[in-house]
Amino acid sequence: MTKDWNTNIYCLIGDPIEKSLSPKIHNYIFEANNINSVYVCFNINAKDLKSTLDSFKILGIEGFNVTIPHKIKIMSYLDEIDDEARYLGAVNTVKNVGGRFIGYNTDGLGFIKSLEDRNIDIINKDILILGAGGASHAISTKLALEGVNKIIILNRTLSKGKKLASEIHEKFDNVKLECDTLDNFYKYLDIDMIVNCTTIGMYPDIDSSPVDLSMFNNDIIVYDIVYKPIKTKLLHMAERMGMETIEGIDMLINQGLLSQKIWFNYEIDNLFKDVDELKKLLI
Ligand code: NAP
Repeated sequence: MTKDWNTNIYCLIGDPIEKSLSPKIHNYIFEANNINSVYVCFNINAKDLKSTLDSFKILGIEGFNVTIPHKIKIMSYLDEIDDEARYLGAVNTVKNVGGRFIGYNTDGLGFIKSLEDRNIDIINKDILILGAGGASHAISTKLALEGVNKIIILNRTLSKGKKLASEIHEKFDNVKLECDTLDNFYKYLDIDMIVNCTTIGMYPDIDSSPVDLSMFNNDIIVYDIVYKPIKTKLLHMAERMGMETIEGIDMLINQGLLSQKIWFNYEIDNLFKDVDELKKLLI
């Protein structure tokens, strides 16, 4: 669609934002749905976060995404935060409603949607979460909310894993929680699914894997939320062992679609049908 005086700007703010796939995802959806908007990236230093939001209001930016390292800090500059984002403790999507910025979080829901797309049921399941950073926080909390049986959080820095586990326990005392360091993974082999939420295996660290899968049964599901590269060393290993694998790109596309749902009030199944075509574009 031709851009004109009426074109709306949507964007991603983060630091760094190099090689982000978000512009490709959102501009593809805009084109596919004849939406007169464009999606761009802005590298914003943490000290400039508030003034960036003030400028966005002046410019009338309709919506934007937020990534590392601003997902938590931005919450103090927003006019309103919806319940899910407050629950997950981070905002990744903002919508301008009549000049007021409202914060949402689509990471947890995007993760769950990618499981639903494959008919994977996580209720009463035991999940091994690797990492305790921002993404782990959203995914672990969402899994607890969805009704898993047990969450085991393994993190290089034990204190951070413990902090996350106790935060989840405070909100969901019906979910069993365990916590340990990452190198003790071999003590937790009796699980249904592994979710890698560390940055291990992410470009340029592509020859690393957070755990050695050879000790696990091959009936587990291995989900690596890292999407650069699309197929990480962990996923290659899982495929070789005959395990079911899910790529981080699935979550990325779904959280993007859910952001568009928030901005435009669309149902995402109507908004966009050919996820495979978009995936090919991103790979
Ligand atoms: P983050 O907040 O910086 O957390 C990083 C995590 O990785 C921490 O648990 C950290 O452990 C661990 N870690 C980093 N380097 C490590 C190493 N050398 N050895 C062991 N552990 C290490 O990052 P995030 O926002 O959670 O993102 C994590 C990954 O998820 C990134 O690759 C990101 O691109 C991806 N992601 C994907 C999606 C998606 O839609 N697919 C969405 C969000 C994020 P410590 O606590 O010990 O430092």
